[in-house]
Amino acid sequence: MKRPLIALALLTAWLMLAVTTAQAAPCLIVTLTGTHGGPQQPFKGLASAGTLVRYGDDANNCGIVKLQFDAGRGTTMRLSQIGVGTEQLSAVFFTHMHGDHTEGFLDLVSSRWAFHGTGRKIDVVCSSDVVASQGFIISCRNFVAHMADAFIQSGEIAQRHSEVKERTAGGPADLVNTIAFDPKDDPQLVWSSGDVRVSAVRSTHIPGHVSYRVDTPAGSVVIGGDAVNDALAPPRSHSTSDQVERLAKGADIIVHSVIHPIMGPGMGSDMYPYAYYRQGTATDIGAMAQRDGSKYLMLTHLIPSLGADEQYPFKVPGRPLTEADYRKAVQDGGFTGTIIVGTDLASLRLPAKQ
Ligand SMILES: [Zn+2]
Repeated sequence: MKRPLIALALLTAWLMLAVTTAQAAPCLIVTLTGTHGGPQQPFKGLASAGTLVRYGDDANNCGIVKLQFDAGRGTTMRLSQIGVGTEQLSAVFFTHMHGDHTEGFLDLVSSRWAFHGTGRKIDVVCSSDVVASQGFIISCRNFVAHMADAFIQSGEIAQRHSEVKERTAGGPADLVNTIAFDPKDDPQLVWSSGDVRVSAVRSTHIPGHVSYRVDTPAGSVVIGGDAVNDALAPPRSHSTSDQVERLAKGADIIVHSVIHPIMGPGMGSDMYPYAYYRQGTATDIGAMAQRDGSKYLMLTHLIPSLGADEQYPFKVPGRPLTEADYRKAVQDGGFTGTIIVGTDLASLRLPAKQ
């Protein structure tokens, strides 16, 4: 009688261990919170640039660490659609200070400030101040410090503060811990928490542009942003950034802004050549992802948007582009992995749920 009981006890213990192990399997979810590209009029309600990276395990739906990369128009709205409150974010990372990557940031921090002002500060990671060749300064630090100035001037911050003490007197900027770093060609660690490490490299687009890589036990993802080659115009062998290519070696997922070659000079779009040349083409990004050995390529910040007949004020030559057009352009570059042509809230999970 005893032996079957021992066997049963052992089996139960093994099953419990198996279940615990399965629950504890690490996972990573990458979600595009906005896929519209460029400083232009909104198109069909698409949000502007942003990527949410979530890491954890099956038991908490990959929700221990939540990192937001860029925060363009509509970011907070998209996060709300997947049940991610802004108070849950651990950190926001900026690739650069272009408005289409930053203008949703005040909204994001304000919603946190309204009722979570005395909670943990949110880290904002970005490059340190840089002087452009024309003499002006690009400053993430100033952007953060002054994000709510208009609402301080209007009396909104003081009025809300008078009602609820959690709303700090200084406004949303009080809630932010800015971590500014000097971008380098070689990856440097810029943020970490537990098993999650975020590194960054300098990349070219506008002064101060950087690209990020997140490494976790569940996999890795590179956020290229709007990176391009240091040579800002032809002749050059490819439009993609060599620093990003090195950063992305062996990464499971690459998320990258993209322009379709149809918008190039001489094709009929009349797009400013400098604006065209400072985005990576779908074909070159496909080639880079293949050289990097990445399994997944997520295209975002699509220029032009799917179905658009213009990238205001420039026209899309021929007919509006489809998902298949972007897919083909990437495959023309030789990429054989999985392509996700970004739409808002497109999501990828590593490892896939069994
Ligand atoms: Zn952009």
